[in-house]
Amino acid sequence: MVEAYQAGILADSGLIAHGRGEAFDYLIGEKTTSYAKTAIQAAAAALILAERPVISVNGNTAALSSPEIVKLANQLNTRLEINLFYRTPKRVEAVEKILKEAGAVDILGTEDEIPVHIKGLQGPRSRASREGVYQADVVLVPLEDGDRAEALVSGGKFVITVDLNPLSRTSKTASITIVDNLVRVMPELRDEVDKLKNKDKNELKILLDNFDNRKNLCNSLKLMAETYLCQDANHVIRM
Ligand code: ATP
Repeated sequence: MVEAYQAGILADSGLIAHGRGEAFDYLIGEKTTSYAKTAIQAAAAALILAERPVISVNGNTAALSSPEIVKLANQLNTRLEINLFYRTPKRVEAVEKILKEAGAVDILGTEDEIPVHIKGLQGPRSRASREGVYQADVVLVPLEDGDRAEALVSGGKFVITVDLNPLSRTSKTASITIVDNLVRVMPELRDEVDKLKNKDKNELKILLDNFDNRKNLCNSLKLMAETYLCQDANHVIRM
């Protein structure tokens, strides 16, 4: 991530956000939990069922997972759109470059495009591509910030996010939140898409209907407390 920062892909705040993620990753034992697996399965179902899915890529996502993001986009025939919190032409170019190096050909949200604006947001963060997020029914937005997540959901989008912090506004607002490290999520999500892509649509709808994001977030939070706080407490009592 430091290299990505030096290469201009990340803003300095991106490094701080990464640190927040690492702290929560420690609390889940740095592995994919059963609750994250349930969310990944629901996310795969939603992406397969989507009519106009889009993957929104920011600096952190590009730095951590470009090759996997590009593979997922090809697997689902989904468009990729660059959306940066601190947008500068140079940073957009850096993200575009890393996505192209990973094999992406069709990239939305670049500087030569005339953007449309998402209601409820101000400045460059309100940008969306007319052919991308603006018209999408399902948006995969890993590591998103709360304002944008809220605006997307208010705009009627089905929002799938990846966020290690189950208490963030994004986590609480999204339709599906995968509480896990993006680096571990991407290969799992691609496997799940492969497993589910030939299933009956009704089966996928049932899978999706049975997913309860708030319950899943609560379970992830409980797991964080049980794994560390409660085990430590028992340990103290035994001593
Ligand atoms: P919000 O605005 O949603 O309340 P925030 O202010 O923390 O939260 P951001 O900094 O935009 O918003 O969000 C980045 C989120 O991504 C943080 O919640 C952080 O924990 C999480 N995060 C950082 N790195 C990773 C990672 N590798 N995998 C998954 N989540 C991560």
